[in-house]
Amino acid sequence: MAQLSDDCFAHGGKLMTTAEALALLEEKLQCITETETISVVETLSRVLAEDIISPCNVPPHDNSAVDGYAVYFDDLGTTSETILQISDRITAGSHVREKLRKGTAARIFTGAPMPFGADTVLMQEDCKLKGTDEVSIPVGIKSGSNRRFAGEDVEKGAVILHAGRTVRPQDMGLISAVGISTIKVRKPLRVAFFSTGDELRNPGTPLESGQVYDSNRYTINGLLNNLGCHVTDLGILPDTPDLIHKALERTIDQYDLVLTSGGVSVGEEDHVKQVVESLGSLHAWRLAIKPGRPIALGQIGSTAFVGLPGNPVAVIVTFSNFVRPLINLLSGAENTTPKTFPVVAAFSHKKKKDRKEWVRVHLKENLEGHWEAHKYPKEGAGILSSVCHSDGFAVLSEELLSIQPGDLISYLPFNEVAL
Ligand code: AMP
Ligand code: MG
Repeated sequence: MAQLSDDCFAHGGKLMTTAEALALLEEKLQCITETETISVVETLSRVLAEDIISPCNVPPHDNSAVDGYAVYFDDLGTTSETILQISDRITAGSHVREKLRKGTAARIFTGAPMPFGADTVLMQEDCKLKGTDEVSIPVGIKSGSNRRFAGEDVEKGAVILHAGRTVRPQDMGLISAVGISTIKVRKPLRVAFFSTGDELRNPGTPLESGQVYDSNRYTINGLLNNLGCHVTDLGILPDTPDLIHKALERTIDQYDLVLTSGGVSVGEEDHVKQVVESLGSLHAWRLAIKPGRPIALGQIGSTAFVGLPGNPVAVIVTFSNFVRPLINLLSGAENTTPKTFPVVAAFSHKKKKDRKEWVRVHLKENLEGHWEAHKYPKEGAGILSSVCHSDGFAVLSEELLSIQPGDLISYLPFNEVAL
């Protein structure tokens, strides 16, 4: 099995921009997952391990796009209606016909193979039946109308989907349309995670004074599932170095990636960093972002390690922007840049220079019919509801100092980053 390169998360320790951090991940990380061959119905959200080449044309034969009458265009009059004898009846699933008799029409149905020679199909609504075996065809139809060509959707031999593609419902349809029933995909990345903090309690249990419910594990679980990972929830760990050590030791070589939240800051009760260092290697990435710092990346045995911040919104921002691409790279998924769109800001906002910010916004259509971004009124890194009641992030680049209503800003929809 492929392995991470030695100490691949090392860097000089300097403050990093988002672009530098992403370039480093792209440079150092490679796919480590094995492959398996599975049935197409099981492939939703799985990553293709090889290009898929179509063994046939889709559609396989020229066919009619409507219910109507197939004719030779050059049999039709240009100044008055044409009366043709109906010499054939072709339903969907019929064998392909030898040839349509010249000067006649074939009654034909949607998807039925075109008879050889015929090049045009009239919609039945535009024609008049005369008795039972003649049809009157009006002038004005264009040559080739309503005829679908063999291979116009997919040509035999074409690559229909490339390796690295994360399979979507329409892809499952397309793979089936070319007649393929099993395909080679990547095995899901095995990811385990736990929360750290003496104050954390599981939902469903009583809360005592000074305690809070753990939310990060549930957010992280959902994010990992959205990325198609094989997920293991390892629960909550107290701020006790020994216990963190024992728990992390048990994960070595058992998972491809271990994630934690909390405990990677510089407080005396932040023990995760030292423990990972004692078991393997760890590098604090000082990212010029808000919210989000700090995050730590390392390796314990063959297992990659990412320590996320504790604050719930910081978890979401660091996961969606850094862990998501990291997971894509390790799982062999195409690592495309999330698409952002320009929208008009309906808020004012001040920020520090040289730091990228992700402001939670929802979109509303203004009177001119344009989408406007409205900032969620509360902003802290602990305000998890700000993410639930928003549609996406306003991504404010390093050089910006302030936003005024009416400014064009870059909008990142949540679904671009697995949220
Ligand atoms: P830490 O990074 O451990 O100092 O935590 C920063 C803040 O995030 C503190 O207010 C913690 O209580 C909070 N926090 C840490 N982990 C979680 C969690 N799993 N769920 C909810 N809040 C958390
Ligand atoms: Mg803590």
